[in-house]
Amino acid sequence: MSGAGVGAQAASAAPAGAGAAEASSPELARSVAAAVPDPELPMLTVGDLGILREVAVDGDRVTVWLTPTYSGCPAVHEIRRQVSARLELAGFGEVEVRTVLSPPWSSDWITPEGRRKLAGAGVAPPRSGLDSQPAGPVPLTLREERGPAVDCPLCGSAQTVRTAAFGATACKDLYRCRDCGEPFEHVKEI
Ligand SMILES: [Zn+2]
Repeated sequence: MSGAGVGAQAASAAPAGAGAAEASSPELARSVAAAVPDPELPMLTVGDLGILREVAVDGDRVTVWLTPTYSGCPAVHEIRRQVSARLELAGFGEVEVRTVLSPPWSSDWITPEGRRKLAGAGVAPPRSGLDSQPAGPVPLTLREERGPAVDCPLCGSAQTVRTAAFGATACKDLYRCRDCGEPFEHVKEI
């Protein structure tokens, strides 16, 4: 009835698993998507951020579910574009990137490896366990008033003070170390 005869015949004539075998691997799709860097925290990948929620492969078709990080972060658009482009380069014919908003991302999802990469780049990682994602309205709290100190990523001192609410990007604020005197960025907890 439809004009899909050519494509359907070609697909059924091909031995299962031949040709696009590699491109149909869910592991390949996941590793390609997970390796996309975050434009605002370029030392971190999508995998480090913990925002890669699900990858489904059906033949050469792949669907990726991502959870945005900081709300309003323009990085999300660029990440989606990169995920699509890299999966197509890896041989997937049809790539769909979907957004999952619930549960909302928390900076607690950043992996231990991601935290090490941040500190290695001189950026203090978010403190973990500060935000327990309570149900209902979230009270506005001055984060520096509670929880452990933000340790200086350069010398490890806990004698640090916040100097600005926003760094180069909205997801970071600025600190200065009282011991070594160096200013540094810190990834905010959400
Ligand atoms: Zn220091």
